[in-house]
Amino acid sequence: MRELWEKEFSCPFCGNKFKKKMVFFDAIKIKSRDIDLKPNFEGVNPYLYEVVTCPKCYFSAFDKDFESIKIKGEETEKRLNEFLENARKKVELGEEGTHIEAIKRYVLSGTIYSLLNQRKKAAISYLKIAWLFREMGRSEDEKRYLERALREFENHYKYDNYEESDEPMILFYLGVLNQLLGKRKEAAKWYEILIRKYDGASMYAKVGRERWLELRKS
Ligand SMILES: [Zn+2]
Repeated sequence: MRELWEKEFSCPFCGNKFKKKMVFFDAIKIKSRDIDLKPNFEGVNPYLYEVVTCPKCYFSAFDKDFESIKIKGEETEKRLNEFLENARKKVELGEEGTHIEAIKRYVLSGTIYSLLNQRKKAAISYLKIAWLFREMGRSEDEKRYLERALREFENHYKYDNYEESDEPMILFYLGVLNQLLGKRKEAAKWYEILIRKYDGASMYAKVGRERWLELRKS
């Protein structure tokens, strides 16, 4: 079965047109999930191809929103320019399809989403980096990025006007990331909010309840 195809993208930052490998939706098979719902794939890992990085200017974002991103304001544009200039000096990009190449691209998208004030997507970028390090068995690096993801989720919850439909997911990750980092009390606090507000109404609350019960037993 064919797993990859090529799609043309147009960079929202510099206008460059380029082609990038994409994973066929039908080729994605999840065989299990970890405690934090990280999917374990059978066959191709779509996270190795999720971030689109312009080969010319290094602007990076998830494939679903790369072309529709709007860069608003001179200050944002200036900060992005500075960051990308620096990244081009420091990071050498190779052929995508490996964990290390995907991590480089998620690091770029994480910072870029932060600069664009899209903290949820920054958090998800860092979470995926942690997951890729987990698959590589690099637990110290995994922990570093779980902490970064947690910080972004916390700030997103505290300071942003997040969409209500996102709240169960955010609360679940505030719980489970604290749990993975050994902060049991904090984890329980977030799970309790999740269960109180969304029990019976969200898959995240169902899984959150299971995690909360495990936490109390252990
Ligand atoms: Zn570009």
